[in-house]
Amino acid sequence: MIIVLKNGATHEDINKISGWLSRYNVEVCPIVGAETTVLGVVGDTSSIDRNSVYLTEYADRIIKVQEPYKRANNKMHPEDTIVNVGGVKIGGKRIVVIAGPCSVENERQIVDIAHHIKKSGATVIRGGAWKPRTSPYSFQGLKAEGLELLNIAKAETGLPIVTEITNPMHVEKFIGKVECFQVGARNMQNYELLIELGKARIPVLLKRGFSNTLEEFLMSAEYILSGGNENVILCERGIRTNETFTRNTLDISAVPALKKLSHLPVIVDPSHASGMSWMVESLSMASIAAGADGLMIEVHNDPANALSDGAQSLTYDMFENTMKKLKSIAAVLGREL
Ligand code: PEP
Ligand code: MN
Repeated sequence: MIIVLKNGATHEDINKISGWLSRYNVEVCPIVGAETTVLGVVGDTSSIDRNSVYLTEYADRIIKVQEPYKRANNKMHPEDTIVNVGGVKIGGKRIVVIAGPCSVENERQIVDIAHHIKKSGATVIRGGAWKPRTSPYSFQGLKAEGLELLNIAKAETGLPIVTEITNPMHVEKFIGKVECFQVGARNMQNYELLIELGKARIPVLLKRGFSNTLEEFLMSAEYILSGGNENVILCERGIRTNETFTRNTLDISAVPALKKLSHLPVIVDPSHASGMSWMVESLSMASIAAGADGLMIEVHNDPANALSDGAQSLTYDMFENTMKKLKSIAAVLGREL
């Protein structure tokens, strides 16, 4: 951190501010110019209160030279993290496709979908049991029963489960029943939830909030990592922009940006990004080409009658064709799928 002091700062001012900074265990290196004095602050500056009266009284400007996220940062952890979701490694050479319905609806539906997506090459099943819906009148999910039905699909196919958790009090309920927690876009900044998931040792698929910056996204990952859970997968799922043609706007640049800033695996959800099934294949191909480690794709046995997100859900045939195309792109990129 660099603190540019207001013009005319005296030695006494420099001593006062240096004394105050010493409580943060940082080294302060003053550079005194004819008119301007600059303090170089070296060490872990993440907990310095930038709004403290000391800083507002004496500082003209504060320049950040380090990102506020430490554990998610590439600089602190140069090797890529590989997250193991029930035996499926996310973040390595192999591109992982997670697929399944938006919501678990009944046993026949989830088991049938599990068999079909597995046949086409998906290695993890998704399906919402607790559904955070924009409208309280929309289907809210089967909740605990949904978790049981997902487990029947797992028993039949061996596919590990990722499903959304919305409440910090539910962690115990999920343990032993899921291989990966999903934190949805609406809960990316539910810090109580992130803190509880940080205490768990099960991977977390963290989705980017639709109005959040990449720095805010990485700070949410930091909450989980700083609790001791190192198994975080970042998921770009589209953000709000002025464009209304698509449900959200897929921020494709988030993929190379997050790969540059962080060691965590990055996946893309083209279904929620577009809201339209016909666009999912193109966005999936673009995501892989941009360097994503995986995809999360909604697939339904009967999209027209789905209880949620039918318009963006692929039929079995569409999913199979998409997987074929993705396999050839993966090969060109020197990756596997
Ligand atoms: C979902 O995965 O079904 C979902 C609700 O996604 P998001 O949180 O990205 O809206
Ligand atoms: Mn959905």
